Amino acid sequence: MNAERKVHIKSFGCQMNVYDSHRMADTLAPAGFIETARIEDADLIVLNTCHIREKAQEKVFSELGRMRVLKEAAARAGRRVTVAVAGCVAQAQGEEIARRAPAVDVIVGAQSYHRLPALVARSERNGVVVDTDFPVEDKFDYLEPPAPDAIRARGVSAFVTVQEGCDKFCTFCVVPYTRGAEASRPAAKIIAEVERLAQAGVREITLLGQNVNAYHGRGLDGRSWPLARLLARLAEVPGVERLRYTTSHPRDMEGSLIAAHRDLPSLMPYVHVPVQSGSDRMLERMNRRHTRADYLEMIGYLRAARPDMAFSSDFIVGFPGESEEDFERTLSLIDEVGYAGAFSFKYSARQGTPAADMPDQVDEHVKSERLHRLQAAIDRNAASFNSRCVSRTFDVLFEKEGRYPGQIVGRSPYLQPVQVMAAKAFIGRVAAVTITEVSSNSLFGVLAPSVAEG
Ligand code: SF4
Repeated sequence: MNAERKVHIKSFGCQMNVYDSHRMADTLAPAGFIETARIEDADLIVLNTCHIREKAQEKVFSELGRMRVLKEAAARAGRRVTVAVAGCVAQAQGEEIARRAPAVDVIVGAQSYHRLPALVARSERNGVVVDTDFPVEDKFDYLEPPAPDAIRARGVSAFVTVQEGCDKFCTFCVVPYTRGAEASRPAAKIIAEVERLAQAGVREITLLGQNVNAYHGRGLDGRSWPLARLLARLAEVPGVERLRYTTSHPRDMEGSLIAAHRDLPSLMPYVHVPVQSGSDRMLERMNRRHTRADYLEMIGYLRAARPDMAFSSDFIVGFPGESEEDFERTLSLIDEVGYAGAFSFKYSARQGTPAADMPDQVDEHVKSERLHRLQAAIDRNAASFNSRCVSRTFDVLFEKEGRYPGQIVGRSPYLQPVQVMAAKAFIGRVAAVTITEVSSNSLFGVLAPSVAEG
């Protein structure tokens, strides 16, 4: 039996990193590591890094400065602390981290973190280890499944990675370089993972992938299954009441997936499909491989399949060469789609991507001004969507107690937080709620009469 030690995992960036962090914790558990929320108590600190956001690398180095201080304080108290850097910055900048940050003991890429227990043990014997290979083995085959207690502690909604990597090579994006080529997990393994989660009380599953709707894993019949087929099979798993998937590429939103939104009641009517820009000129420079018209056509098909469908997106402002006219095309697209929500970012160059070397970079103050206008347009659309929810009755999946006594909080089909005065017994259940009021970021409601009486 391993002596018990504590691990603190700090996750940056997207939901895929959150999922990876959970799986790292599961994989470290048999090696004797239990999770702690207090970084000061940890014997092992893992920074699971993200390369998408601006200045990600600087953030990691400043975080590592803090790690050095923590490590030195622990050493003075006679305690050894191991620091590991994982994820996309580790993948892209592994050697640089090893050179610049002496506090780091382990550097592990996004495809190798199943080896974390062995790498930690190796670093304790031999000093710094770097593993940023794209190994031939599938890391998912080597990861420990989460224990039922760990699943329950993470709540009623869980992520499951089904696909990783990307072959699209958008000119601004590092993912094809840090996460590698597109690869899909076999359906049997995903089904087994979802069954385990559902048995432990999870009611909502979000399938994750950098390009999730390009999923083409081996199906139960030995053939390649598209995402729609996988979703249909997962909808049959007892206990699974809600299914979602993210992030999608507009080009891969194929007919079977659109039909799944019509045919599968448990598939939530809310899809995140990034468009990035409303200007065809920018879409071409971004190598998005779709036009504004293609995108709007896809939105139309989805709405025809499921009229209560809502959308969110990512937008980049100030991509190299973006003119005021291009930007206004993006603003008009936002109003045309009427997004329920969106993420927006100023373009920032990523080393090694084609856009970083484009000559016509946009001035920082222009980007800031456009971002401000873009966010105002997104907020206006989101507020309008939220206000149209008043008087509607939705199924809400209750997740936890609210801030006030007697209040519980759940999520609508559109991921809005919904606050209701109701018994704690509803936590972990889906119940119909009539929306009575909205605030800037929450809905308030009452249990629908049939539920309240039942
Ligand atoms: S499709 Fe998404 S993950 Fe792939 S290169 Fe483009 S932005 Fe990056």
